[in-house]
Amino acid sequence: DAVTDALTKLFNHGQFWALLEQMAAHTLRHGTYLTLIQIDVDLFKHYNDTYGHDQGDVILRALAEYLRSFCRASDIICRYGGEEFVIIMAETDIAQALLFAERFRAGLKTQPVLSAITVSIGISCMVVKADEKTRSGGYDLKKICAKLYKLADDQVYRAKHEGRDRVCVAEPFSPLKTRDNRKLFEVLIVEDEEKTAHDISHIVQIKGFQARIAHTL
Ligand code: GH3
Ligand code: MG
Ligand code: MG
Repeated sequence: DAVTDALTKLFNHGQFWALLEQMAAHTLRHGTYLTLIQIDVDLFKHYNDTYGHDQGDVILRALAEYLRSFCRASDIICRYGGEEFVIIMAETDIAQALLFAERFRAGLKTQPVLSAITVSIGISCMVVKADEKTRSGGYDLKKICAKLYKLADDQVYRAKHEGRDRVCVAEPFSPLKTRDNRKLFEVLIVEDEEKTAHDISHIVQIKGFQARIAHTL
């Protein structure tokens, strides 16, 4: 199947990005939250080396099954690659996601097969408030999705660094803020060129402000 992974029957890498873009576009249009939960098996290379690759596959299949039993029907569960899984959760804020992740992480320890492994989990969340939602587009959907993924990925990295078997959470971000700021910046440049064209010291001062604004953006 072109959209699922042969070992686990979860959505594959390509389908993850396609569905994430669709969910992100929905969130930008209608507002609310979109959350990503990234799960990476800890020290899985060592597990394979110890118990063999076939037993490693048993773990990956069991993990996929346990994820299915844990998630809601509206959650999108993907095998991103290797021993990394990603769940896309619509209408889910950071507190709900954290609760899910901690329950999942603790739940593994109660499972006969899966208690042999631990996982590191990273969570990212984008927030679109009612007054920010857009019907006009004008944003870079791929860039927003890449940012959402990168933020979760960074948190997995942090969880590994802090000792594994834990959940780390990124600060929620507003994807439309950047676009609005850029617009403001463009307006400032136009205003500057129209009003202060003959006053050199004023131009220098305004350019200084612009540089600081650009730096902040
Ligand atoms: P870390 O805690 O830092 O994530 O350590 P790790 O060993 O899990 O990470 P690393 O990326 O070094 O190794 C991932 C391992 O996952 C190596 C690879 O053999 C194993 N792996 C990837 N895909 C599969 C698979 O389909 N089946 C099996 N059995 N193992 C897999
Ligand atoms: Mg790993
Ligand atoms: Mg990995």
